[in-house]
Amino acid sequence: MQFRTVLVGIVLFVLTACATPVTDGRLRVVATTGQISDAVRAIAGDRVLLRTLLGPGIDPHTYIATESDLFALQEANLILYNGLHLEAGLSRVFENIHRRGYVRAVAVAEAVPQHLLLEWPDHDKAYDPHVWHDPQRWRYAVIAIRDALIAVDPAGSEIYQQRSERYLADLQALDRELRMMAERIPPERRILVTAHDAFRYFGQAYGLRVEAVQGISTATEASASTIRALTELVVTNRIPAIFVETSVSPRTIEAVQNAARAVGHEVRVGGALYSDSLGEPDGPAGTYFGMMRHNMQTIVEALTS
Ligand SMILES: [Zn+2]
Repeated sequence: MQFRTVLVGIVLFVLTACATPVTDGRLRVVATTGQISDAVRAIAGDRVLLRTLLGPGIDPHTYIATESDLFALQEANLILYNGLHLEAGLSRVFENIHRRGYVRAVAVAEAVPQHLLLEWPDHDKAYDPHVWHDPQRWRYAVIAIRDALIAVDPAGSEIYQQRSERYLADLQALDRELRMMAERIPPERRILVTAHDAFRYFGQAYGLRVEAVQGISTATEASASTIRALTELVVTNRIPAIFVETSVSPRTIEAVQNAARAVGHEVRVGGALYSDSLGEPDGPAGTYFGMMRHNMQTIVEALTS
């Protein structure tokens, strides 16, 4: 840790001391999450060199920058992160970048208007960061990504405008598609139980009541009383399936499953949802659109069967 602290200091010193290098003429863009990278790739294509810090299965709430991340941030022309305290372990790095002002860094989820944000319970003036789970809200982040690209690369403005229009239209179509899929779930079965509270925007968008073992951040402990309360909810409502997440340990959901079984209600694990990261690049959930479809399909199949 000592070494890392020293290294952060050195990297940030170097950042302020020298101009950002640009190799092969292309802009270097660093994005924290896969969902941000998906939009960058669609809007900018090969015009930028893109690096994603958080790969498949990585939990952004507890992620701490590696030395290689810090060097990527050092070389970036543009840094795009979610914000709203999603990447809590990187907050000091971003604070330093903003204070020194040597490179444009944009918290894209913070572009969502405040009245569309859900409050983070027990956190003063903090909001739920999982906005990408509602394509209508995620539009604002995509527009912020487009505007940030135009600001660092005005020559590409027309390309970014055109390609972002297409991406925004795709988001609208995705939203309609997900809405139709959700309608297949019988009203009395519209309860989504997951490991951590990442699906509140999703639930609001598609008419599901959402309950979770852990809070908005996975850094919070799963309490025995929450597991008891969720078990009661599952048993009382005869919920057929609950869900694990690819970036969170399955243990808490298994605890609810075992507790329900102990009182005679068999609840299945309905599948793994991509809560905070995309899937493997070559897999069906390797894109934002694939991830959203996978989640909805998994939920619909498990709750209707
Ligand atoms: Zn989360």
